[in-house]
Amino acid sequence: MGPIQIKQILECKIGTQVVVKGWVRTKRESKNAVFIAINDGSTIHTIQAVAESGQINEDTLRLITTGSCVRVVGLLVASAGAGQAVEVKIEEVEVYGTADPDHYPLQPKKHSLEFLREIAHLRPRTNTFSAILRIRHTLAFAINQYFNDHGFFYLHTPIITASDAEGAGEMFRVTTLDLNKLPRTDEGKIDFKEDFFGRETNLTVSGQLEGELGAMALSKIYTFGPTFRAENSNTTRHLAEFWMIEPEMAFFELEDNMNLAEDFVKYVIGYAVQHCADDLEFLQKRLEEEEKSKPQNERSMPLLEKLNFVISNAFERVTYTEAIDILLKSKPHKEKKFQYDVAWGIDLQSEHERFLVEKHFKKPVILTNYPRAIKSFYMKQNDPNPAEPGATVRAMDVLFPGIGEIIGGSQREDNYDKLVTRMHEVGIEPEALWWYLDTRKFGTAPHAGFGLGFERLVLFVTGMGNIRDVIPFPRAPKSAEF
Ligand code: ATP
Ligand code: MN
Repeated sequence: MGPIQIKQILECKIGTQVVVKGWVRTKRESKNAVFIAINDGSTIHTIQAVAESGQINEDTLRLITTGSCVRVVGLLVASAGAGQAVEVKIEEVEVYGTADPDHYPLQPKKHSLEFLREIAHLRPRTNTFSAILRIRHTLAFAINQYFNDHGFFYLHTPIITASDAEGAGEMFRVTTLDLNKLPRTDEGKIDFKEDFFGRETNLTVSGQLEGELGAMALSKIYTFGPTFRAENSNTTRHLAEFWMIEPEMAFFELEDNMNLAEDFVKYVIGYAVQHCADDLEFLQKRLEEEEKSKPQNERSMPLLEKLNFVISNAFERVTYTEAIDILLKSKPHKEKKFQYDVAWGIDLQSEHERFLVEKHFKKPVILTNYPRAIKSFYMKQNDPNPAEPGATVRAMDVLFPGIGEIIGGSQREDNYDKLVTRMHEVGIEPEALWWYLDTRKFGTAPHAGFGLGFERLVLFVTGMGNIRDVIPFPRAPKSAEF
């Protein structure tokens, strides 16, 4: 199927006749020979093609520059030079496409990540981004593999939704109305009856509510699709368009949910460690380079060590109430080093999460039983607990070093009356979600689920610092070029 790729060619026997197709990374000329490093994205490694001086005619040789695309035919031979075991002795070369050196922006030198974001159409041709994209693919594959192996069905939940009840964030409107000529009702409001769906619609912020419908029939489902949030915060952990994995399971309680989340992330990280060794080693070196300027004690664990550490250690499980206690007794709180105050009932800020994960426990943490007031209406309410100052719900957030929240989930409220009461309390019209409430009316059951932000996972595994660098074409405020 198609031409053999460089990844396989590098493993061929010496003496094999090969055809290499790829993009030129560098061309180097010595007294007696020309060396062309070619990469086709199948692996981080380039293959070196060598011709004797004068063998390639001058006109062709001039067209072979960094970024040009070539086809090389030749014999695979043992390499005399350091850095590669084999190379191709060129017999024939064809230039598919040139890349004018005066205009091609990716010259062989160090480019900043900021600059590369401005040329997102070309950045997959760099070692860093091709490594990230291969790891991203491998993680996606492992995710599907894990769920398939564990009896989950992939449920495709809608991207356009009419429910804005989730409260997960600001939504993007979907409309075909003419913005210059909006139809109005008698009261002067926009008449969405005239819109494509005959009602207000938005891009989904989560597939969970529909996911639950699937779980109440197929028992175990997962979604893996794009989600959208008009987050106006320009952070290194938020995108306007990101991919989310959301398993929903009937007959799972909070404990089962935690066990699944932990086993699942360990599996997919382990899969990447096993199958992306070259790319991870490259990224690890890159990080080490980056950290050279830092004092020894401020440098982070080498990437692979960090990943193996997460795979082989149990996540710390603590309740929200215990976490608040720890924070209240902490040095940064006592010395007023936290920007935000700590008290039972607050929504933990990123600085608090990072203290717990990076300073206190020094490993991933699963926080459970959050105050009801700061969590979504659909989370299962706990019975009153005298040890807790207020009402709590069976929520669980998984916090990772360097990232903060990577997973948010809960056992879901399965009691119809409690759910409806809660909706009224937070101002959600039960009628608007009649279909969701029907699952609690007809054959309700204990069930649970969670959402894993795919890019936050890729961020963790690649060790990158900005979420815009782990998705091919990031969507963020004022940025949707490519
Ligand atoms: P945060 O507090 O970090 O904004 P959240 O509480 O809004 O997260 P959830 O609504 O629980 O997040 O969404 C589930 C998961 O989706 C999060 O744990 C996170 O991994 C991911 N996520 C949420 N918002 C974004 C975003 N804007 N960009 C990328 N990933 C996100
Ligand atoms: Mn958020």
